[in-house]
Amino acid sequence: MKTYDVVIIGAGLAGLQCAKLLARCGATILLVDRKTDLTKGIHTTGIFVRKTLEDFDFPPGTLGKPVRNVTLYSPRLKSINLTSEKDEFRVGKMGKLYQSFLQDCLENGAEFSNGTRYVSAETGEQKNETIIKLEKGGEAFEVRTRVLVGADGANSRVAKDLKLDENQEWIVGYEEVFHANSSAKEPRLECFLDAEVAPGYLAWIADDGEEIHIGVGGYAAGFNPRRALEKFKERAAGKIIDLKNAKLVETRGGRIPVGGVLRRIAGENGLLIGDAADAVSPLTAGGLDPCLRLSAMAANVIFERLQTDNPTVLLNYSGELFRARFVSRLWMRRIIATVSNQKLLELGFAFLRGRIGRRFAKHVFFGRGSFPDVKLKNQGEKNFTNASILKSRS
Ligand SMILES: Cc1cc2nc3c(=O)[nH]c(=O)nc-3n(C[C@H](O)[C@H](O)[C@H](O)COP(=O)(O)OP(=O)(O)OC[C@H]3O[C@@H](n4cnc5c(N)ncnc54)[C@H](O)[C@@H]3O)c2cc1C
Repeated sequence: MKTYDVVIIGAGLAGLQCAKLLARCGATILLVDRKTDLTKGIHTTGIFVRKTLEDFDFPPGTLGKPVRNVTLYSPRLKSINLTSEKDEFRVGKMGKLYQSFLQDCLENGAEFSNGTRYVSAETGEQKNETIIKLEKGGEAFEVRTRVLVGADGANSRVAKDLKLDENQEWIVGYEEVFHANSSAKEPRLECFLDAEVAPGYLAWIADDGEEIHIGVGGYAAGFNPRRALEKFKERAAGKIIDLKNAKLVETRGGRIPVGGVLRRIAGENGLLIGDAADAVSPLTAGGLDPCLRLSAMAANVIFERLQTDNPTVLLNYSGELFRARFVSRLWMRRIIATVSNQKLLELGFAFLRGRIGRRFAKHVFFGRGSFPDVKLKNQGEKNFTNASILKSRS
């Protein structure tokens, strides 16, 4: 049976980021994903916000054009245009980004087992080791590790096996991706408040001149994402964007956890990152910044655990550190979740058109607030979420 310092289940952005950073430190890593090709079955629009773009390096050719314009629509298609002086968003070319991160992992010695399903994990005979059951091409095999990382998404099996907290609240997102015929328009993000096609969240069009993403998101109860998307395209998107020359290339969808970071995201045998840890902003449903930021933090804790050979170090990585920062966002999420009436949304929208409302909208879309930077207990003044520490180590 092969032994690794760290086994990471899931090669989405969270798992890749963690594997990349730990491989650069010299840890022996096995990265596992049930997908055979990481460029397929992507389940994110890929919008990165300014704070992420400023704090993290992206490989060349993995980002679309900068977006400075946002239009917000009411259910009756009244609109508010918001423009920023800064580049606020960029849509990631996610397939390329995943491949590039994977290449970085492999060049630094990590092993990748694709087309491999995580089955279960249990404590080994040796103290502080975990035996992981995997299955590839119908054949079961086992590996041994000191740290098991659950980066296996919103419906994490690793969370269950490590007896950590599990996601309880999520919305569902679904979108179509078109290749644009080099639109001459300014790149723009358009968001639609509509309780019928996007109950509890938003419908969106993200058009950066290269790719057009048209999607809907909302609470799963009473919401059929595919039908809602068709309705959205008939009702609103068709009036705003011309798809005649655009080619449908992909559909994407999945759960987006919105309950705020889980409390227990680490035990002595392993930890959770990304959607598995519910590391998504409950208000904007943005999860890509936390994939990079929280995974960097997790990589630091794991690095220390491997150096000291003290498994309790992992317990410093606690969701409690973040939850306090999410209180207002969680309240806003609860309020939004209860608005199921178009008239109420229209009223709320009228508020957003006023001076104070507009400032609030600008704050939500253009503020630098993303996933919080936190300092870990017992880590002195060193900020373990700061990407530059990791950059300098590479
Ligand atoms: C439609 C949609 C649009 C979104 N748009 C945005 C956006 O624009 N901006 C933003 O910031 N956030 C967005 N989000 C949220 C964001 O995409 C997620 O938070 C983020 O991608 C989560 O990454 P992850 O690595 O944690 O999980 P995932 O990307 O889900 O990766 C998990 C990986 O684990 C693998 N896996 C799962 N189970 C097993 C198993 N048993 N064995 C082996 N492998 C397994 C899966 O194959 C997958 O590759 C969106 C989400 C959705 C659904």
